[in-house]
Amino acid sequence: MARIELRDLAHAYGPRPEREEDYALKRADFAWEDGGAYALLGPSGCGKTTMLNIISGLVRPSEGKVLFDGKDVTGLSPAARNIAQVFQFPVVYDTMSVGENLAFPLKNRGLPRAEIEERVREVAQMLELSPMLHQRAAGLAADAKQKISVGRGLVRSDVAAILFDEPLTVIDPHLKWRLRRNLKEIHARFRRTLVYVTHDQNEALTFADKVVVMHEGQIVQTGTPQELFEEPAHRFVGFFIGSPGMNFLPVEGDEAGLRLEGTDIVLGRELAAQARGRSGRLELGIRPEFLELHEAPVADGLEAALTEVQDLGNFKLATVRLGPHLLKVKLHEDAAVPQARGWLRLPPTRTRLYAGGRLIG
Ligand code: ATP
Repeated sequence: MARIELRDLAHAYGPRPEREEDYALKRADFAWEDGGAYALLGPSGCGKTTMLNIISGLVRPSEGKVLFDGKDVTGLSPAARNIAQVFQFPVVYDTMSVGENLAFPLKNRGLPRAEIEERVREVAQMLELSPMLHQRAAGLAADAKQKISVGRGLVRSDVAAILFDEPLTVIDPHLKWRLRRNLKEIHARFRRTLVYVTHDQNEALTFADKVVVMHEGQIVQTGTPQELFEEPAHRFVGFFIGSPGMNFLPVEGDEAGLRLEGTDIVLGRELAAQARGRSGRLELGIRPEFLELHEAPVADGLEAALTEVQDLGNFKLATVRLGPHLLKVKLHEDAAVPQARGWLRLPPTRTRLYAGGRLIG
């Protein structure tokens, strides 16, 4: 196992670009702690696979270093780094049986037969592959093949880390849930450093102890699922995590507090001090779960027009208009929903202030 450190890392495919924004991976300093279960989360094209391939050695970074337990491995091949990597599409030897596929990485390292059999049996059981150990891989369905691929990643006990690149993409949704739970159990048992790439927030939040969120080639926040939900450090995290994501209202700081753009409404008096002296646009963020919508006037309530209410089974989603701005409010499934207009309250402990996309208060 290893602590994996990325120091001053940057990567561009092809010639070195002049502009920072043209790098696939912008300046990154980051450490994956030994034994951690990490999800690397972000939308398509944000640089997750590039980051993973730099860790495994498949891609050599344009700038910066990769260190395993303090040792510089930037120039080492994937084999010399001792990393297990599981790709989005299964890599399986069709001519071998399921058991032989699982045993392959161990045979390659010359482990004693009894030990190989024991490890294969253990991994097969975890991944529910035991009944098909003697079957040939060729005729198997895509999800069984992907389980073999995952198993090959897990079978070695001497790897520095196991990297998964969207490994459950080809797997049926109901099986996905079980496999994710199995992976979590496997992690709890063996405490290997796991990095799990996904663009699916549910997958990331259920699997990982720590979620690393990437946006446009940069790590924008690392935290527990709860930290990401309650304290998004960047507006992108607020927007990307949650369903629907955080509401953002453009505001300007003045003596009275934060004035909602295009209106006389003053919000976030408690946050106004943080806004002083900042030029440019500020945004007040609040999650749909934390907004209160009342049928009758309440203290600090703002009159708002209701434009839509969607019944989504286990909750209702209201859209309300405050001046020219629309906000989403998540309501309990049996909450009373006001007709046409209601009173909106933004609990001060739940509002967050952003400048240039970054959390300032
Ligand atoms: P996805 O979830 O779609 O795989 P990702 O977050 O893993 O996306 P990367 O695959 O790392 O993102 O891509 C980051 C950027 O680098 C993208 O703009 C992509 O087009 C570019 N890129 C990735 N691989 C190459 C390559 N081999 N050659 C040139 N550009 C590449």
